[in-house]
Amino acid sequence: MSFNIAIDGPAGAGKSTIAKRAAKELGFLYVDTGAMYRAIALGLLRKGTDIESEADLSESLKEIEVSLDYEDGVQQVYLNGENVSDQIRTEEVSNMASASASKPEVRAKLTELQRGIASRQSVLMDGRDIGTVILPNAQLKIYLTASVETRAQRRYQELNLKGENCSLEEIEKDIRERDFRDMNREAAPLRQAEDAVLIDSSHMTIDEVVAMIVRLTVVNRQ
Ligand code: C5P
Repeated sequence: MSFNIAIDGPAGAGKSTIAKRAAKELGFLYVDTGAMYRAIALGLLRKGTDIESEADLSESLKEIEVSLDYEDGVQQVYLNGENVSDQIRTEEVSNMASASASKPEVRAKLTELQRGIASRQSVLMDGRDIGTVILPNAQLKIYLTASVETRAQRRYQELNLKGENCSLEEIEKDIRERDFRDMNREAAPLRQAEDAVLIDSSHMTIDEVVAMIVRLTVVNRQ
């Protein structure tokens, strides 16, 4: 039987880095659901979709197909057959992903895809609504968070390393806005599932969080 781990939390809490590492140690498939929302967002941006118009959004979504594949164990995300794994990592796409993820029609498009993947194998899936909506029966649920200041600082360093020009204030403002949207939307808002373990990574290293998740998995599998 597959063992599923759901990791939810706000932007910049270190979810994907930690989830990737923990999945590798455990031999689980890592599924980054944020990448799927980002791929849809890129499709909507390319089409110039007005997401506040139901008709426009519906039309565009009909022509947007998202799929996943793995290359050497690394998730690749495809938009209508094109590998867009790198192109989805911009601030423009981040903001569109957060805005369009509040639309039920966008969420519905990804629900079955995500559940299907988890039903076939042991996965460690990260996102915003995995423990609450997508995999309510996951054997282990983690809610991973960190303070807004810590998350903004981490994102700032990440973008600086990539050589991208950015301001810490702007990033912090974006993070606060995204948190607000993710936590206050009607469709599948970001919140901690009742049976999720809370991990605040503000004062923890990546290694410490990974070790904690691996330990919790071992304990829960017994
Ligand atoms: O995790 P990441 O920052 O890549 O996700 C991009 C956006 O997609 C988030 O801001 C969030 O609004 C949305 N998302 C979501 N549900 C998920 C994963 C991501 O609403 N399961």
